[in-house]
Amino acid sequence: MTLPELWTHKPQKILAFKAGDRIEDIDTNSSPGFDGDKDDAPELQRDRNERFAELQEMLYANGRRGDHRSVLLVLQGMDTAGKGGIVEHVVGAGNPMGIQYKSFGVPTPEELQHHYLWRIRKALPTGGQVGVFDRSHYEDVLVVRVHNLVAPDVWGARYDEINAFEKELTEAGTSIVKVAMFVSLEEQKQRLSDRLEDPEKHWKYNPGDLDERALWPQYREAYQAMLDKTSTDHAPWYVVPADKKWYSRLAVTELLIETLKSLQLSWPPADFDVKAEKKRLATA
Ligand code: ADP
Repeated sequence: MTLPELWTHKPQKILAFKAGDRIEDIDTNSSPGFDGDKDDAPELQRDRNERFAELQEMLYANGRRGDHRSVLLVLQGMDTAGKGGIVEHVVGAGNPMGIQYKSFGVPTPEELQHHYLWRIRKALPTGGQVGVFDRSHYEDVLVVRVHNLVAPDVWGARYDEINAFEKELTEAGTSIVKVAMFVSLEEQKQRLSDRLEDPEKHWKYNPGDLDERALWPQYREAYQAMLDKTSTDHAPWYVVPADKKWYSRLAVTELLIETLKSLQLSWPPADFDVKAEKKRLATA
């Protein structure tokens, strides 16, 4: 069995959010569509990282030639869900020249003076780039909704607005890959505990994370509404069980590879006479 065949179902099919799917039904410890186990992961991840890197560089090379297309990976998930691990172990396999990483934290005073999509628009990937949003405009219907940071009619209007915004992006040539990562409360507790136990992980720990953890029922509602209202044909959500880090990383790698493959990229042809250049070089 070759390594990619360990996938019995395409992650793009099996992880796509479907109308009626409920968050409480997600088995966060499962590995949908994957027939292997943890032992298979390292070799497969290396193999697929290489494939991703090749396609990502091809996108970048085309961008250098004026291709306006780009890919945008949107990562959402509660603290410890593994967003950082995706950035490091999946996107990190790519050529940094073609990666545009942006994390979105609490808006600055300047950002708060603008429409919530203002800071998002400024960070969009340009032609040839793979953009990564570590949190995103979805915080404006998640944390903002849970903490009543604006009135319900204000956040309530954002779902349609976000759909229209993403439609505009896809029509302008950005393929959007939206990944919602879910860990169980027990797994989150374990990961927070690991962070507290290890001084090298203290930088990842934020006391506020425990307050958000206590609000999980409200977050679950907000995540459910997000999935129900903003999973569209042009920008569907993928729901990724994330208790097994090795699985979520493999799955997101496949989602990115499939998206890049759908662009039907090839290496840009030389815009000079190769033969003539070889001749010149020989005597240079
Ligand atoms: P992380 O927790 O992802 O490692 P940070 O420590 O920068 O990153 O925390 C980001 C925090 O910013 C999160 O608690 C998140 O909910 C919050 N945040 C992001 N976007 C917004 C927003 N639009 N309004 C309010 N809070 C936000």
